[in-house]
Amino acid sequence: MLVGDAFGFLDPLYSSGVLLALRSGEMAADAIVEGFQLGDVSAAQLGKWGPVFNQGVDRMRRLVCEYYDGFSFGQFVRTYPHLRGTITDLLIGDLFTDRVDSVWPPMESLYPEGKAPPPPWDSGTSPQHTQNKANELILPEGHRP
Ligand SMILES: Cc1cc2nc3c(=O)[nH]c(=O)nc-3n(C[C@H](O)[C@H](O)[C@H](O)COP(=O)(O)OP(=O)(O)OC[C@H]3O[C@@H](n4cnc5c(N)ncnc54)[C@H](O)[C@@H]3O)c2cc1C
Repeated sequence: MLVGDAFGFLDPLYSSGVLLALRSGEMAADAIVEGFQLGDVSAAQLGKWGPVFNQGVDRMRRLVCEYYDGFSFGQFVRTYPHLRGTITDLLIGDLFTDRVDSVWPPMESLYPEGKAPPPPWDSGTSPQHTQNKANELILPEGHRP
């Protein structure tokens, strides 16, 4: 079973690596314990936490992609002050809840014309390749912040 950076490294700037390493270790340990209790140590049982984990990684991945593509926290909280707490929760690693997904539509409302959101990790790839996409950063061409 792979956890931490062996499972997938995202980005050093947002300092999510230690959180994700610990969280994946925790989720993998739970799957192992449950596997022993059920007498099932198949790949499906031991790997069942992967998609849930990737969903959380995907939230951080999107924040990182948005940042490199010009997202301004200042502009966001000035425009949507009621979402200050939620965007902070996301930043500090509250990644494993869909509650924080409330930031995406307002974020998209601040996009310049013609810009589209980065595709989610599980879109446009065959199931055997999706795993490799969870930590793929989509970066803009040219100047980066
Ligand atoms: C420049 C940089 C800055 C970063 N800044 C931050 C930050 O500010 N905050 C943050 O949260 N994350 C940061 N990260 C990411 C974070 O360091 C990693 O995501 C995190 O350490 C991953 O933990 P890990 O246990 O998966 O791997 P590691 O910490 O790499 O641990 C793996 C260990 O396994 C050992 N090992 C490898 N092969 C073998 C072997 N064959 N036998 C025995 N031992 C072996 C290695 O020596 C190592 O000690 C940064 C990363 C980089 C590169």
